[in-house]
Amino acid sequence: MTPDIDGILQRAADGGRISAEEALLLYTDALLHPLGEAADAVRRRRYPDGIVTYLIDRNINYTNVCVTACKFCAFYRAPKHEEGWSHSTEEILRRCGEAIELGATQVMLQGGHHPEYGVEYYESLFGSVKAAYPALVIHSIGPSEILHMTKVSGVTIEEAVRRIKAAGLDSIAGAGAEMLPLRPRQAIAPLKESGERWLEVMEVAHGLGVESTATMMMGTGETNAERIEHLRMIRDVQDRTGGFRAFIPWTYQPENNHLKGRTQATSLEYLRLIAVARLFFDNVAHLQSSWLTTGKDVGQLSLHMGVDDLGSIMLEENVISSAGARHRSNLHDLVWLIRSAGRIPAQRDTLYRHLRVHWTPADDPTDERVQSHFSSIAIPGGGTGRSLPLVDA
Ligand code: SF4
Repeated sequence: MTPDIDGILQRAADGGRISAEEALLLYTDALLHPLGEAADAVRRRRYPDGIVTYLIDRNINYTNVCVTACKFCAFYRAPKHEEGWSHSTEEILRRCGEAIELGATQVMLQGGHHPEYGVEYYESLFGSVKAAYPALVIHSIGPSEILHMTKVSGVTIEEAVRRIKAAGLDSIAGAGAEMLPLRPRQAIAPLKESGERWLEVMEVAHGLGVESTATMMMGTGETNAERIEHLRMIRDVQDRTGGFRAFIPWTYQPENNHLKGRTQATSLEYLRLIAVARLFFDNVAHLQSSWLTTGKDVGQLSLHMGVDDLGSIMLEENVISSAGARHRSNLHDLVWLIRSAGRIPAQRDTLYRHLRVHWTPADDPTDERVQSHFSSIAIPGGGTGRSLPLVDA
């Protein structure tokens, strides 16, 4: 390695800030092991107890009807399409109750941009969930859905966020970020808002006391520089708001959908991005890897490259499963994966507070009812088979 790269790595490992240009240099030129060691040094300093967290939640898709027609999306159906569906509030509540029985602390309500779903729909939905299950955290929707409801209802971003927060929204999911820079975003989601608008919604929400996560979808033809630019755009907002709790990159699954044949992000690219993200985001507390898209081995390796959280055991996910992710697991597997990496597994809540630390293997979960449920849920409204999710967005 050149002295330059050594110096950048050392500064970042010591907690110093690196520039986007330096991050790009690390991403493209640093040797993998020193890169991972530097990122892991940051992780150790932040979390010296060696704990790696996970979450139990349920992702409930309320509709697959969408007017935004992203080119990468195998989940949506255009309005009036015969395979379009929407779930009733009663059905969504039933699934929330089922999730709570299985130990979920959070629900992620996600869906398409239905032409009739304005802020009133979300107020009613969140209000109903909170009325029925006050303790269930609603970590749901994203800036794209918020912008959609502003258009349908003719309200400002601020009014929309205030109203859905008052109705029960606790936290905004980082979904819909895809790639934030203009060129790759327009290539895969030409009808979606710009990356700047996505961040603007987050900034407004953070200012109103609604925190969020931030995601990134790698592997749809973006360049290395565009990947790092995505990180820079998020870090700049985080400098002003501090509202992003975690960064969650994941890899695009091309099977079954429109971008099939595009170059996918390799496991190595993913791990390098994970490590660079840990070094670059000196202002974001948590780094979550998406072991369900990349596979367990890569997920476990990510724990040695700066990751402190493996996201969720989810009970249902349609958007991702429709796109072909097939890495299934269950609670037992996830805990084993963390423990066999030499870390201490802990169930967390949405705010990363530890709910249950598995200090020894004797503390590991053995709930057969949960595990059998994980392997038996059918996808409602279509899909190619249940698969666990990619991201706790
Ligand atoms: S990714 Fe979301 S916004 Fe885009 S088409 Fe699919 S459901 Fe619609």
